[in-house]
Amino acid sequence: MNKPVILTGLRANNDLHIGNYFGALLPMVDMATNRSDEFQVNLFVPDLHSFTTPIDHSELQAQIMHNLKIYAAAGLPLDNASIHIYRQSYVPAHSELTWILDCFTGFGEMQRMTQFKDKTAKLGDDRNSVGLFNYPVLMAADILLYGASYVPVGDDQSQHLEFARDIAERLNNKFGELFVIPKPVKGQHEFFGKDQGLRIKDLVDPTKKMSKSDETGKGVIFLGDDPEIAAKKIMSATTDNEGAVHLDFNKQPGISNLLQLHALLSGETLEAVVEHHNGQTSYGDLKKEVAEQVQEFLTEFQTRLANVDEQALLKKLESSEAAMNEQANTTLLKVQKAVGLR
Ligand code: ATP
Ligand code: MG
Repeated sequence: MNKPVILTGLRANNDLHIGNYFGALLPMVDMATNRSDEFQVNLFVPDLHSFTTPIDHSELQAQIMHNLKIYAAAGLPLDNASIHIYRQSYVPAHSELTWILDCFTGFGEMQRMTQFKDKTAKLGDDRNSVGLFNYPVLMAADILLYGASYVPVGDDQSQHLEFARDIAERLNNKFGELFVIPKPVKGQHEFFGKDQGLRIKDLVDPTKKMSKSDETGKGVIFLGDDPEIAAKKIMSATTDNEGAVHLDFNKQPGISNLLQLHALLSGETLEAVVEHHNGQTSYGDLKKEVAEQVQEFLTEFQTRLANVDEQALLKKLESSEAAMNEQANTTLLKVQKAVGLR
């Protein structure tokens, strides 16, 4: 019997920060590793999705491999047969199924997608591609080809997941059981634990979260930062005038953020870290400890990244892509037969 499928896209850029690392990368690596006994875990690079809005194409190829290496450096196992790591464009069935699904998708249905409306408002009509319009259909194909039940989605993707369910049901009703229907958004949240709430704050303005699109980057620790410069960013983090270390995200957001980082970087519990610093009247010690830990963490991470076994990674991609082509083509053939192409 086939195992149920968990599927997720590995979106990552050169400039991921420690918030992304602790809030997204590590949980995904843990999820893949821990669930792979019971589930088939599909982790794919949505490379066809990556130029729905304009990008520098001379960088895409390097970017894709860099993304994959970041995940490997974060601990994604390359030798687990239940975890498949693949590039979307290496499985042509994604594009083929998209076309077929397109012909059963309403124009208005796509026009109502919030993300499309938001992005078009920003870009203006002339720079809007049909690819951007069509993005949710490709996403539906990504999911339905493998019969994935569980797809972790952020709020911005919920509507797209609902569409994947709709189009699957629509075709199942018309042609008989072609697709596994992915679990509804609520079921996804129950399964993955909705928003574990971890939000690393910006070091300059600790009332907002650390974001890679931040303009100055002064309050952001990027995974590619020079470790010494990153340590300096910690040393000059905004704190407050309370004059005592307490964990209080409302009253002392800067200090609380540093305590949080301290815990994540040291692997100690937040309680233990708070206990250790509680009531200290100067912030210097806390800053120094976190600065050292950040420096050490980045040095280690960057070494791991430089040492990722590229041959092993390529071999993994090759074997996963062969297996995924087989699975995806089985679904595609069913659909092709149903619509009369075969
Ligand atoms: P952008 O500014 O482009 O929105 P971002 O830093 O918010 O970038 P996203 O690409 O939106 O990053 O999110 C990638 C993943 O990282 C998501 O799972 C998101 O929940 C998580 N994440 C983003 N910022 C933080 C943060 N400050 N702390 C913890 N997790 C975060
Ligand atoms: Mg964001």
